[in-house]
Amino acid sequence: MSENPEKKTALVTGASRGIGKSIALALAEQGHRVLCISRSLESSAPVVEAIQAAGGEAKGYAVDVADSAQIKEACTAILGEFGTVDILVNNAGITKDGLMVRMSDDDWNDVITTNLSSCFFFTRELIRPMTKKRWGRVINISSVIGQMGNAGQSNYAAAKAGIMGLTKSTAKEFAGRNITANVVAPGFITTDMTDKLSDEQKDAIAKFIPLKRIGTPTDISATVAFLASESADYITGQVFTIDGGMVM
Ligand code: NDP
Repeated sequence: MSENPEKKTALVTGASRGIGKSIALALAEQGHRVLCISRSLESSAPVVEAIQAAGGEAKGYAVDVADSAQIKEACTAILGEFGTVDILVNNAGITKDGLMVRMSDDDWNDVITTNLSSCFFFTRELIRPMTKKRWGRVINISSVIGQMGNAGQSNYAAAKAGIMGLTKSTAKEFAGRNITANVVAPGFITTDMTDKLSDEQKDAIAKFIPLKRIGTPTDISATVAFLASESADYITGQVFTIDGGMVM
């Protein structure tokens, strides 16, 4: 665990597994306090314990990111305890795939709310103290699917494209307060989300990727950690596509 005289508070949604877990560990490695959001305390406990065991500071919160009332309640408690969240990483996401003509209202709404509205809810609740401090980072995790579209993923593609518009608006609205907002758009990354694919599907995907491999969570968390750092002070409103070269 690196020494960090400027210890900041970071909040990561979907921190219990996959990309979010890797982001939480990377931010803790930078010396920040990390607040880990998932639907249950049980799911984030191993990540919180791993950070604490390495000498860092972390706390888990059970919040359904699709529920704005739960987010408001958690953020009020968090701001009461820590004053400010300096680094907000909106990473939690789900898929509920289906062809458009067969997609239910619930599958559309669940994916839009969990992936997109959650980014707006957390930003709205946490940005005011960042403006007072005149320093802040908002990093939203989108997907190459938001750039390319995908048959069977109209809900997910719309949510992930929406994140790009939301983030650019956040960047413009708060640039005057020295808050940056950026998007990281992963390609195919090995996590529970992509474990649903068969080995044949994964091989076919790897062949189609110019760098010839599916990515790892650390491929994504390294960029998030950079964007959270002082080195990224002059970067805002950008989309960082990390996909082995699929989208060029
Ligand atoms: P995982 O399915 O591995 O993990 C999802 C995380 O989100 C878990 O921590 C889960 O917590 C949390 N989560 C899901 N729904 C909710 C909810 N309603 N409230 C609170 N937490 C929730 O996903 P990945 O790590 O693969 O994906 C992370 C992000 O990266 C997502 O936004 C995804 O769309 C994006 N992405 C992933 C790609 C990939 O190839 N894996 C590619 C492109 C983008 P828990 O279940 O413990 O409550």
